[in-house]
Amino acid sequence: MNTPRTSNPESPPNQATVFPEVVFLGTGTSVGIPALGCDCEVCTSTDPRNNRTRCAILFRLPAGNLLVDTPPDLRTQLLREKIPLIHAVLFTHEHTDHLFGLDDLRLFPFRLGHGVPLYCESHVERRIRKVYDYAFSDREATHPGSTPQLDFVTITGTPFEVLGIEVIPIPLKHGPYFDVLGFRIGDFAYCTDTNEVPESSIELLRGVKTLVIDALRYQPHPTHFSVDEAIEVIRKVQPQEAYLTHICHDLNHPVADAELPEGIHLAYDGLRLPMNL
Ligand SMILES: [Zn+2]
Ligand SMILES: [Zn+2]
Ligand SMILES: [Zn+2]
Repeated sequence: MNTPRTSNPESPPNQATVFPEVVFLGTGTSVGIPALGCDCEVCTSTDPRNNRTRCAILFRLPAGNLLVDTPPDLRTQLLREKIPLIHAVLFTHEHTDHLFGLDDLRLFPFRLGHGVPLYCESHVERRIRKVYDYAFSDREATHPGSTPQLDFVTITGTPFEVLGIEVIPIPLKHGPYFDVLGFRIGDFAYCTDTNEVPESSIELLRGVKTLVIDALRYQPHPTHFSVDEAIEVIRKVQPQEAYLTHICHDLNHPVADAELPEGIHLAYDGLRLPMNL
């Protein structure tokens, strides 16, 4: 499937969009931008591209909407992008800024007719079961929808299928204590929350048209790529286009974006990109 089409059963009516496509729900670092209490030029900017909610993307695929991560801003992100339903979720890792919007999935089982499938590694599942213990209680529910209905599907480093589409997990390092997963679907790859892409994972990324990669700020950081480090990875992978995400308030969108090498851009909330399956 190489030609973008314009039909999707879950498209909001009267909204002309490319399909399949990727929707950037959030592109900000863990505290979100503006950061609470900060009066820097980015946090007080009126440019909407400097308003960055916590990181997530959504694949609009032929069989439904595939969400990557459930950040604390999930409800407002889905409302903003007019996404009425989530069919399945992939998790990159279990950090709070990627997880604490999980309860916002609570309404979807009514329309799906089953729990929301969550594709994650076993250590991510353990974390979810712990912090969302009320969703896994033995007590009988008082009423339908009182707790989230969640169906775990365990993934590892090997490719798997979701909504009829092959997903290739991309193992990544995220500082000394966390191994996380990026995901490749067709010619699109999403690699957030990383400061090291192992050589074997560079190979898995070969041939992508679009690469999205973590770039927190200009200065180095112990768990995230800097802009220069991200550019180094992009040069190795050689995608047609690359987008930086998980951005903090050190990067003022119009200025920082204009300074990037050709073919590399800053992502922003609400950005939509076509993809090929
Ligand atoms: Zn994060
Ligand atoms: Zn600031
Ligand atoms: Zn993280």
